[in-house]
Amino acid sequence: AKHVYFFGGKTAEDTGLDAKGQKELLGGKGANLAEMCRIGIPVPPGFTITTEVCAAYYEQGKKIPEAAVPAIEEALKKVEAAFGGRKLGDPADPLLVSVRSGAALSMPGMMNTILNLGLTDASVEGLAKKTGNPRFAYDSYRRLIDMFGSTAMGCEHEKFEHEIHEMKKAKGVKLDTDLSADDLKELVTRYKAVYKAHVMDDFPQDPKKQLFLAVNAVFNSWNGNKAIEYRRIERITGLRGTAVNVQAMVFGNMGGTSGTGVAFTRDPNTGENVFYGDYLINAQGEDVVAGIRTPEPIAKLHEDMPKVYEQLVGIRSTLEKHYKEMQDIEFTVQEGVLYMLQTRSGKRTGTAAVRIAVEMVKEGLIDETTAVKRVAPDSLNHLLQPQLDPKSKVEVVAQGIAASPGGASGIVLLSAEAVVAHAEKNPNDSIMLVRKETSPEDVAGMHLAKGILTSTGGKASHAAVVARGWGKPCVVGCEAMKINEEAQTITIAGKTVKAGEFLTINGTTGDVMIGKVPTVAPSMTGDFATLMTWADKGRKLKIRTNADAPADAAKAREFGAEGIGLCRTEHMFFGKDRIAAVREMILATSTDDRKKALAKIEPFQKADFVGIFEAMDGYPVTIRLLDPPLHEFLPQKDNVEGTEDVARQMGVPVSAIRERVDELHEMNPMMGFRGCRLPVVFPEIGDMQVRAIIEAAIEVKKKGKSVLPEIMIPLVGVVEELTMLKKRAIATAEECMTKAGIKVEYQIGTMIELPRAALTADEIAAEAEFFSFGTNDLTQMTFGFSRDDIKGFMPTYLKEKILPVDPFQSIDVKGVGKLIDMGIKLGRESRKAKHGQHLKVGICGEHGGDPDSVVFCHKVGMDYVSCSPFRVPIARLAAAQAAL
Ligand code: ADP
Ligand code: MG
Ligand code: MG
Repeated sequence: AKHVYFFGGKTAEDTGLDAKGQKELLGGKGANLAEMCRIGIPVPPGFTITTEVCAAYYEQGKKIPEAAVPAIEEALKKVEAAFGGRKLGDPADPLLVSVRSGAALSMPGMMNTILNLGLTDASVEGLAKKTGNPRFAYDSYRRLIDMFGSTAMGCEHEKFEHEIHEMKKAKGVKLDTDLSADDLKELVTRYKAVYKAHVMDDFPQDPKKQLFLAVNAVFNSWNGNKAIEYRRIERITGLRGTAVNVQAMVFGNMGGTSGTGVAFTRDPNTGENVFYGDYLINAQGEDVVAGIRTPEPIAKLHEDMPKVYEQLVGIRSTLEKHYKEMQDIEFTVQEGVLYMLQTRSGKRTGTAAVRIAVEMVKEGLIDETTAVKRVAPDSLNHLLQPQLDPKSKVEVVAQGIAASPGGASGIVLLSAEAVVAHAEKNPNDSIMLVRKETSPEDVAGMHLAKGILTSTGGKASHAAVVARGWGKPCVVGCEAMKINEEAQTITIAGKTVKAGEFLTINGTTGDVMIGKVPTVAPSMTGDFATLMTWADKGRKLKIRTNADAPADAAKAREFGAEGIGLCRTEHMFFGKDRIAAVREMILATSTDDRKKALAKIEPFQKADFVGIFEAMDGYPVTIRLLDPPLHEFLPQKDNVEGTEDVARQMGVPVSAIRERVDELHEMNPMMGFRGCRLPVVFPEIGDMQVRAIIEAAIEVKKKGKSVLPEIMIPLVGVVEELTMLKKRAIATAEECMTKAGIKVEYQIGTMIELPRAALTADEIAAEAEFFSFGTNDLTQMTFGFSRDDIKGFMPTYLKEKILPVDPFQSIDVKGVGKLIDMGIKLGRESRKAKHGQHLKVGICGEHGGDPDSVVFCHKVGMDYVSCSPFRVPIARLAAAQAAL
């Protein structure tokens, strides 16, 4: 296979692969550099060493494969020829190159780039003479020593930073750009000393040696901590490695007519069709994103460099027309000449993704199906994020750049490590990560924070890009804020906030507020609603919701839910107005006493069901009978205060409560006296619930609404359980209907959540009118993992790749999935054979809102999935994508 592909001028070597194959072979960056050449966009010439070479590099124990070496040298000659015949590191007139990483999927800032490669003590003089700009030449050289030293040789970047800092202090200047050519020349000497002290060798003076060491470094960065961490969080697997792009350098740091910038072809926060980005005059590469100097907005380039700006605007539209996708671009201007250095499809917030998809359909760039496919279901989370309550009074103390929308309040912590440490102990705390700037080392902490605030940096800074990717509220460049790490405080507008105190940001506006601000739930309108309509056209699965309160049911309907797939009655048992009656029922020692207590609960249950049926007018509502073990309604064994409280409230001796708690205590409650086992032993509990359901249905039907109750019996493992309970439920329901003189349609079905139920689904389906897979319990029982006790081993299981994903988050297709598939087939066949009916099948439990699991549910032919109200739109979109 070919190891190296050249690009430059208006051409690029053909790989003979389709777009996806090209990306896999050349990496995203390399493939797009080649593509830009082909469509006539100015790009400095270069070549790409393939990801296959990276894979071979690792196979051969971190050695560049021998056959690749001459190929690299050959390609270098081509670049030299294409760029004015200059030779790499030629002392008279050197060609310099950048060595850039780039995997098939973009991993922003995760891997190392080396610029200005080819500079040596000799060639730096040549560069100075040729350009007549010694200041620029030495600035480039000291940057190379820093980047090469820290990236390829593992010197600490801070050591170099320290030198430049000292130099600026000694010269009494503030900015790097204020240092003179002589200062920089002196700095080069000091940088080389730092290099030698660490590497125990001189900075290499052979440009080719620099090149090969740099290629090695890029390959090594593929398995650096930052890259591994990023892949873990983003769940990126199955890539061969990174490609290496070696490209002729162009210089944005040659003075006032040079510069560098990054931009998006549309606003990645809102999706608005405007050119969006930042640039810096007289700067190189990473300066814009590193948050060292706060950059200028792209619109201002129109004033600074009108011609370049116009050309750039043209390229913006060429790229969008070509890729039919919003692009994230990098460019550099060298003495008035524009070069493009990168394009890729831009990361965007969920809000922007939706708007861009819908507007591109209207602009005729893409069709509806493409639009539906293009929005990642999980990214809708962003539109479903709470916003700061517009009605709440807020005092804005400062304003930064709105980098990623949504509102967040959290306690201030000043380092990513502090966030990680705090979150480990207090997983429920909301944390605001506050930093000067963030870097790839911070991603773990950033991931755990509710919001991110930085004092420097622009729209393309690391913090902004990463936060946007995750749909996390973020404000950057809040220059009015001063951070004092030592004192663990920040000061904004004269006010001091200590670490641990609350701070609020509005990532939509850039506002920063001290204290906590209430948030409000989002709603589904505009482009969001439009996209959902398109999604619904292709969708086969119905989407229901898990809700046990009328307000949740109403919210879910607003989001498009087509029924309730799981109404958990035990949540209703905890209501303040009835918990006493529930406890009375549990303490009862005779059936009569128990019935008396149940009679007190019944009106509450019925009223709850009335509310839910009304909210779900016209849609089915699946109600699960009481599921948890009874002791969950009593204080825990060692809770002395709680036990005394309950005893006082109920007017019984403390010992009575304690005795019952002891009696009900179970070694393994999740596999104990719960689910259908409760009404098997205490039928009156089931009777009460069925009566409440049917009477509520009758009442709502009387009001002229349409009610479709589905009574669901949990934790059935043996068909006889269902046979018994169903018989009793029918008798109770008939009694209610006869009494009222009204009939309601209702169904009786079961949850399939025990492996035995799935294995004997044919028997169970003879009795059940529907199945709902309770995948939380089914996963727990299949793996034998208590879902509340996975903390200790699941992280290791994932890290060691024993499991590809946490099976409680995404269905384990191989094992649990096999049970589901089998259960559906057995159940459907048997129901059809015995009753001539289609067995309705759905899923409840957390997996119903997980896009990958939804795809699975579609594949195995379920009728619906059910998930929490705020995941309904996500499930709708995932179901549509599964069907397309
Ligand atoms: P990343 O993958 O982190 O974005 P890049 O490979 O894009 O890293 O390099 C970072 C920056 O270095 C680029 O944005 C660009 O500004 C600068 N750069 C890379 N190659 C060149 C080049 N040939 N000439 C000028 N600047 C370059
Ligand atoms: Mg880049
Ligand atoms: Mg269950």
